[in-house]
Amino acid sequence: MKKAVLPPLTFPVDALEPYYDARTVGLHHGKHHQAYVNGYNAALDKLDAARVAGDYAAVKHWSREIAFHGGGHILHSLFWANLKPGGGGEPHGDLASAIAAQFGSIQAFDKQLRAATNAVEGSGWGILAAGPGRELAILQVEKHQNQLLPGWQPILVIDVWEHAYYLKYENRRTEFVDAVLDHLVNWREVERRFSGVAEA
Ligand code: MN
Repeated sequence: MKKAVLPPLTFPVDALEPYYDARTVGLHHGKHHQAYVNGYNAALDKLDAARVAGDYAAVKHWSREIAFHGGGHILHSLFWANLKPGGGGEPHGDLASAIAAQFGSIQAFDKQLRAATNAVEGSGWGILAAGPGRELAILQVEKHQNQLLPGWQPILVIDVWEHAYYLKYENRRTEFVDAVLDHLVNWREVERRFSGVAEA
């Protein structure tokens, strides 16, 4: 069976300083993201064993583990790749046009994205997602798997679990979200993802 593998960071662990500290990035990638990879693979193994044994007594549990850990792995992989040193700024091109058409303006989009991400209840993600008609929506995903829209592709994801920011920013989630959007977001990668979303 094909297993998930932790993707390496595409930048040095301290490359996002001072906005994202090396200690948090190292733990977040090497420990937290790795744990989601491990949890997803373990759930696949358990379901393999259940099929062999014909014993589905725990199928609900392991199915939930796949959604949680698999979702965590997928979202973290997207997260690392939509950050870069010297990021921030604004989206360009087709994505900028689509944002303006959907949200009224880049500025209105930016305000909603920050507000929605800051207001995620508990542990979760602020996400810009593209739908089957290449329309856009800002989602508040709780944990890694709740409040997603089926068939919608996340093109920008911002992790607001406390493990993502607490060592440096403590309870100040808004400062972390501002740091990501002002200094770290890789809009070229988000544009690339949007360009790959085909109209259904
Ligand atoms: Mn995380």
